[in-house]
Amino acid sequence: MNQPKNPIQIARETLKRLAASHQAPTPENFQACYNEIADIPTKAPFPEPQLRHLAAELQAGDDVQRQQLASLDAAITRHSWQGVEKALVAFLSSAETPLSRGDAEPSIVSRLPTEFAEKLTRFIESTLAHLGDEKVLESELAGMLIRALRQPLTDFELVQHLLSNLGHQALVTAEEQAQIKNSLLKLLQLIIENIGELTLDESWLKGQVDGLLASIQPPITLRQLDETERRLRAVILKQSEAKRQSIQAQEEMRKMLAAFVVSLATINESSTTFQLKIEDSARKITGVKRIEDLAPLLKDVIEATRSMAEETSQTRYKLKGMQEKVEATEATLVRLYEELDHASAQARHDPLTDALNRKGLDDALAREIASVRRRNVPLSISMLDIDNFKRLNDRLGHEAGDQALVHLANVARHCMRPNDTLARYGGEEFVILMPDTTLEDGIEAMTRLQRELTKTFFLTDAEKILITFSAGVAQLATDESGLDAVKRADRAMYLAKRAGKNRVIGG
Ligand code: GH3
Ligand code: MG
Ligand code: MG
Repeated sequence: MNQPKNPIQIARETLKRLAASHQAPTPENFQACYNEIADIPTKAPFPEPQLRHLAAELQAGDDVQRQQLASLDAAITRHSWQGVEKALVAFLSSAETPLSRGDAEPSIVSRLPTEFAEKLTRFIESTLAHLGDEKVLESELAGMLIRALRQPLTDFELVQHLLSNLGHQALVTAEEQAQIKNSLLKLLQLIIENIGELTLDESWLKGQVDGLLASIQPPITLRQLDETERRLRAVILKQSEAKRQSIQAQEEMRKMLAAFVVSLATINESSTTFQLKIEDSARKITGVKRIEDLAPLLKDVIEATRSMAEETSQTRYKLKGMQEKVEATEATLVRLYEELDHASAQARHDPLTDALNRKGLDDALAREIASVRRRNVPLSISMLDIDNFKRLNDRLGHEAGDQALVHLANVARHCMRPNDTLARYGGEEFVILMPDTTLEDGIEAMTRLQRELTKTFFLTDAEKILITFSAGVAQLATDESGLDAVKRADRAMYLAKRAGKNRVIGG
């Protein structure tokens, strides 16, 4: 182990080492080499020039700060870190006014109108409420903004900076929420489709599922969602009513069955008693010697027979009552299930005109195409659009417009053949599927409908209105999809509009 060296020895050795390593004997080199030999950890020199430079940059706003800067200066001279730290902390925390360099732009500080500041604060608070609880960064930004707005003097630069940051964050969050909504919708669609696959045989459930699927096709409107909710609620209500009634019916049937078994036992019992009595009487009759002894025996037999007959008829009466009750319960259940079917079928119908809706049309089209292809017969598709409907709405109101749609649907149903299908394709557009009909006959049928419409005025409270429509007809081609045929009919309808409206054109 090395003996501890005294400072003179270390200094001597230091000089030797500096000479040997050809280093200039500067104070820094000497100090470093001395520390190494003496095994003293090398300390960073006190950064006096840098601190002086920093102190020169600081400007006192008042006398207190001037004093603090003087303390800082003294601490630098003393090489006292502690003093520097103390003086700096005191200076910074007394800085009421923002620190400013002589050459920096002063912040724009001014008094905001109170009402404006309050409105802005409320706007920020409500924006934050819409961003959700988990948005920490946004809440912090909003908190800082609100604090800045509540100062008597507002630092515009700061407010502007915070506002643009918050705006950016809000935009990011909004985009994120839109993506989440889309993903959730996709997920919902998947779940509903799956339920649909599982419940193919439950026709009324399938109706609900189809309705739901149709209603979550983007773009989703609140009106569409409300309508779906209304339908679903109706179906759910009927479903639970049917369930309740069927449980009640089961309970009643169980009771009736129990009563029936008891009745059966009574019949059996009374017929056994009857049989015993008759046998007894028969035996006694065989033994009778005198005619007057026969009279009471006969009376017994008649009595037993009468009571047996009475019991039997009572049982029959009871049974008949039970049977009637069962039939009535059955009829109620059938009615309920019919209502349930009807409610679910509504999911395929447009509630205003009772024509099929788009989903109903898709199903009907697929069915008709399969049928006409199997039977090798034509299918014509017509697309019709009411003329100048917007004008009618504007002049007489939306309510009258709705009634006009109902009127057109009624006249169309009246004119169509039973096998034809009417569907509401959009606002004032209808599609009619005409199986076993060539293009020529389809055009003829639409012209007939036009004539019929001109005969039957549509009557509002105010006046008689004549509705006309333009139509395009297409005959389904071999190998053509239903969608393409509908598109052809639509194009033909458009041509009918271009050609002056109130006419039918074949596509
Ligand atoms: P064109 O002769 O070229 O077909 O003109 P148009 O005014 O009939 O057609 P446009 O497409 O410009 O307007 C259709 C109008 O139908 C606009 C919309 O307000 C109205 N509409 C759509 N659905 C309904 C509805 O359910 N009820 C009512 N009352 N109006 C509807
Ligand atoms: Mg239209
Ligand atoms: Mg129109």
